[in-house]
Amino acid sequence: MRTMARKKFTKDSLSIYLRLLRSVKQYWLSFSIGIMATVGYSAVGALLIWALKPIIDQGLIAKNVHFLTWIPIAIVAIFIVRGITGFLSDYCISSVGLSVVMDFRQKAFNHMLNLPASFYDKTTAGQLLSLLIYNVSQLAAATTNALLTVTQQSCTIIGSIVVMLIISWRLTLIFMIVMPVAVFANRIMSKRLRKISLRVQDAVADVTHIAREGIDGYKVIRTFNGEEYERNKFRKATRVNRHRELKVVVTNSLGSAIIQIVCSLPVAAIIYFVGVGYLKISVGGFGAIVFAMIRILTPIRRLTKITTTIQKGIAGAESVFDLLDTDAEKDLGSTSIARASGKIEYRHVNFTYQQSQRTVLPDLSFTIKPGTVLALVGHSGSGKSTIANLLPRFYDVVSGEILLDDVEISEYKLAELRHQFAFVSQHIILFNDTAARNIAYGKIDSVSKEDIINAAKSAYIYDDIMQLPDGFDTVIGEQGLTLSGGQRQRLAIARAILKNAPILILDEATSALDTESERFIQKSIEKLMQNRTTLVIAHRLSTVEKADCIIVLDKGRIIERGTHKELIQQDSYYARLYKMQFSE
Ligand code: ADP
Repeated sequence: MRTMARKKFTKDSLSIYLRLLRSVKQYWLSFSIGIMATVGYSAVGALLIWALKPIIDQGLIAKNVHFLTWIPIAIVAIFIVRGITGFLSDYCISSVGLSVVMDFRQKAFNHMLNLPASFYDKTTAGQLLSLLIYNVSQLAAATTNALLTVTQQSCTIIGSIVVMLIISWRLTLIFMIVMPVAVFANRIMSKRLRKISLRVQDAVADVTHIAREGIDGYKVIRTFNGEEYERNKFRKATRVNRHRELKVVVTNSLGSAIIQIVCSLPVAAIIYFVGVGYLKISVGGFGAIVFAMIRILTPIRRLTKITTTIQKGIAGAESVFDLLDTDAEKDLGSTSIARASGKIEYRHVNFTYQQSQRTVLPDLSFTIKPGTVLALVGHSGSGKSTIANLLPRFYDVVSGEILLDDVEISEYKLAELRHQFAFVSQHIILFNDTAARNIAYGKIDSVSKEDIINAAKSAYIYDDIMQLPDGFDTVIGEQGLTLSGGQRQRLAIARAILKNAPILILDEATSALDTESERFIQKSIEKLMQNRTTLVIAHRLSTVEKADCIIVLDKGRIIERGTHKELIQQDSYYARLYKMQFSE
């Protein structure tokens, strides 16, 4: 993400901003009411200044009694209108802003769910989290809040200038002389702010990333005494963040101060020239015009400050658009498949991971007959998981083909293809939800309580669940009750049993569990394998012994294949591996 942001820094801010603004279009009604209310609010403000002249000249100096009676009523009425327009403007514009954040967050999250595995290989969870939480939140401020401020303040400026022109166009022109200088200073400031804002985002992503590692990896950190190392890493990241945020503040404040000083020069000159008598104007007129000029300074300050918000928003939008523009998984297949018979064939499959140059699988061919078990064995790094990951198309082959029921897997509709597989891996993900919902993940609406119970019984996890405080309704996972390693595995097996997919991809756990737990897992896996085609990354003796075919891999190549009996009879690589890995 970071590199993407850097690479595209040259992208035109205006086009990014316009694309961002297009997202506001659907809320045009609220937004229009908000803008109209804003214009009304500013017009009322200008009216108040314009009224200063008659108040001073006719009321206070000429003591016009009729005028003095009406003035207090008019002032209260004006403030009531001001209150109503102010409320409407705040409410409507903020609601649009919050909706924009909500929409983009949802869009980004939806897209993340469709991005290919290769995207997750090169992006950290911290980067994605900070994008969803921090970067996206910058968008509201940049769209609606900024538009609100720009409208409000521009209206105030325009209103004040109109009042000034009505009172004295000569004095107004003197004031306007410095405007080009102010605009130029603002441009320089904007450019710098955008650059720093992108770097602030990177810094927030780093902080999130380090924090996440510190939280997820707390056991490793403590057992390896890594606390000090992590503390320093985090301190460094937060310092960088503070430093970059401060740069934003400095640029903003300095820029805003310079612009205000520039604008104050003509005000001072006018006061001087009127004071020494070069320019003639009534007392009320002079009061009103000086007041209007001073009143312009605040909106100018606000407008220059809003540059920061807009630039931060553009930087945020840039990263969000980069994510949204990243290609989703290719789902171009049109063939439907309800339930596969389970014939799998790898034909001259060649595969390389995107970010590494090394070919992981040079030329791989094998077939699995329906309803049989194929075990993959080999040293770590030999390509077993890669083979398994290609089947549900987490990655696509570089050349060659993989067929399911004699049809190339990319020809199937992706969701239907994936429906054919149950995946039980070593890394068991439990969601922060009830035991029942964890087992029925993805199909809670279509299964009965009975189905869930039967799956739990088949996976030998039923009794364990019944002993939880609320049985199947007990919240387990992240913030819920923690289950043992063995229980987690059996729960994952229950999930796979309930899914009832025709093909099972099994990545057996390498870590040894206690014999009791192991026995249960073994039995539940056997139940799971019944009547299914199974591709298993085998680490257990019983699995390899019972497999219909064993493929022995070395550096992505098949070096031996056969049944356990056949292979063990030869003086094979498998026989040696078997002795080393499985015989204990
Ligand atoms: P095994 O499952 O047999 O341990 P893998 O299939 O995980 O082996 O890995 C095979 C090779 O591919 C290894 O050299 C590994 O470093 C590389 N590899 C695995 N996953 C990725 C990935 N996501 N990105 C880049 N290289 C990878």
